[in-house]
Amino acid sequence: MIHIKEKLILDVNNLTTHYFTSKGEVKALDDASFQLEGGQSIGIAGESGCGKSTMAFSLLRMVQPPGRIVSGSIRVGGLEVTGLSEEEARKKLRWQKISMVFQGAMDIMTPVYSVGHQMMEPLRYLKDIKGDRAKDICFKYLDMVNIDYELFYRYPHELSGGQKQRIVIATALLLEPDVVILDEPTTALDVVVEARIMNDLKVLKKKLNNGMIFITHDLSILAEISDILAIMYAGWIVELGSALDIYKEPKHPYTQKLIAAIPRLHMDIDRLEYIPGAPPELTNPPKGCRFHPRCEQAFDRCSQEEPDEHDVDGVKVKCHLYDRSG
Ligand code: SF4
Repeated sequence: MIHIKEKLILDVNNLTTHYFTSKGEVKALDDASFQLEGGQSIGIAGESGCGKSTMAFSLLRMVQPPGRIVSGSIRVGGLEVTGLSEEEARKKLRWQKISMVFQGAMDIMTPVYSVGHQMMEPLRYLKDIKGDRAKDICFKYLDMVNIDYELFYRYPHELSGGQKQRIVIATALLLEPDVVILDEPTTALDVVVEARIMNDLKVLKKKLNNGMIFITHDLSILAEISDILAIMYAGWIVELGSALDIYKEPKHPYTQKLIAAIPRLHMDIDRLEYIPGAPPELTNPPKGCRFHPRCEQAFDRCSQEEPDEHDVDGVKVKCHLYDRSG
């Protein structure tokens, strides 16, 4: 039976994760805060190296040395995560409170074991659920992702990419986690399969009343599937709010550029926008606003002072343009 989840299932406050390398301290994620309720999804978008993956690994408590969570708190399904030992994280957190479908996950299925054997592993190791009971649970989730239970007995080489991806998603759901992170869940698939899986995920999050975190560089997909959008740049969340509001009327200059760079049907290809320059080195990010060297709307203050986060019609925007304090 699906257990009833708390309304607020993920509460991230001022989360900061850095990597302490021989070249200096990489400020990969700074002061990130957001909340998620049951049945909601958040899409995290931004260029490579903006902190999306560091965010995901921090939530799972899987940041590897020389990285570590420096400060902040993460509460998943009522469990405070940051103070857990590695053993506690393994036994209480991963799979049960939060699980992840990794990028290219369909390729990590072991060819020598059947789908069923691989699916039942987390049930066996974490809950000591075996035999027919484990099989029944697997069948239930295979059904939820629209996979015929007959595939439970097959081997990965007998399946299509879309089938494998659905099976990996079903496996991530087996222990009814409060939150599921999906990192580029459909990148390797064709557009028709991608659309079907995205649609199924939309239905699933309402049915299971859990939270989903989508990580992808494809903003148009996120706008379609997410309730909330978090736009990241150089380790900061620069814009956070309703996905529809942000997609329709982006406020942060970086988000405006990202959305303008999405190709549209019938669009004159010469008018496709791009963001000049490259994201900064996070060992030594620019003073003031980290986006200022690439921002067309920058003014004097931008290179001197870090912007605060401002509430603009319910959307949080980290930019001096919205500072009404004078
Ligand atoms: Fe651009 Fe300044 Fe806003 Fe940063 S604070 S996004 S540089 S206008």
